[in-house]
Amino acid sequence: MRLILLGPPGAGKGTQAQRLVEQHGIPQLSTGDMLRAAVQAGTEVGKRAKAVMDAGELVSDAIVNAIVAERIDQPDCARGFILDGYPRTLVQADAVEAMLAERGIALDTVIELVVDDKALVGRIVKRAEDAKAAGQPVRKDDNPAVFEERLREYYKKTAPLTGYYYAKGKLKTVDGMASIDAVTDEIGKVLAAAAK
Ligand code: AMP
Repeated sequence: MRLILLGPPGAGKGTQAQRLVEQHGIPQLSTGDMLRAAVQAGTEVGKRAKAVMDAGELVSDAIVNAIVAERIDQPDCARGFILDGYPRTLVQADAVEAMLAERGIALDTVIELVVDDKALVGRIVKRAEDAKAAGQPVRKDDNPAVFEERLREYYKKTAPLTGYYYAKGKLKTVDGMASIDAVTDEIGKVLAAAAK
């Protein structure tokens, strides 16, 4: 199964992706996680991405496309994967199409988590508080000021992807404001229907 989770920052893509990993035994490919790992490791990519990420803007298409192209060739992706936070621009969406076509594989479904913007800042603040309470590092971009920029980037560059996938007949929407378990159930139903 090859699945894309779409939705603004804080929509719950990461949480749902982790559940899908457990249910389906395929990896979650989060470009945000990969970029944070690169920043942490101090790689060339990490150095170039850090300031952009801290400002809540999008890293260049060339960088993220290269990261994903390399990642999907790893053996654990052979049975499928969940793309979380990628693609985020139309250029990236075209790149995924090309990558999959080159490998003779297809995208199964795109699930958009539909959420109310006003609730998102609260979720991000809570995520930062939870990370702190658990003794985990708090993301530098999980604060209201940077979050606003991330949301602007989403509407400018990522939201058009819903139309892109709708036109391809791949888009399914799920109410992301429901409880975490209810969203998981809904995603399960969408995937079961798509598999028929
Ligand atoms: P995320 O963890 O998905 O919220 O991503 C955190 C940050 O990483 C974003 O605000 C961007 O700066 C960068 N990033 C993650 N994925 C992408 C992507 N597909 N394209 C461009 N930038 C990305």
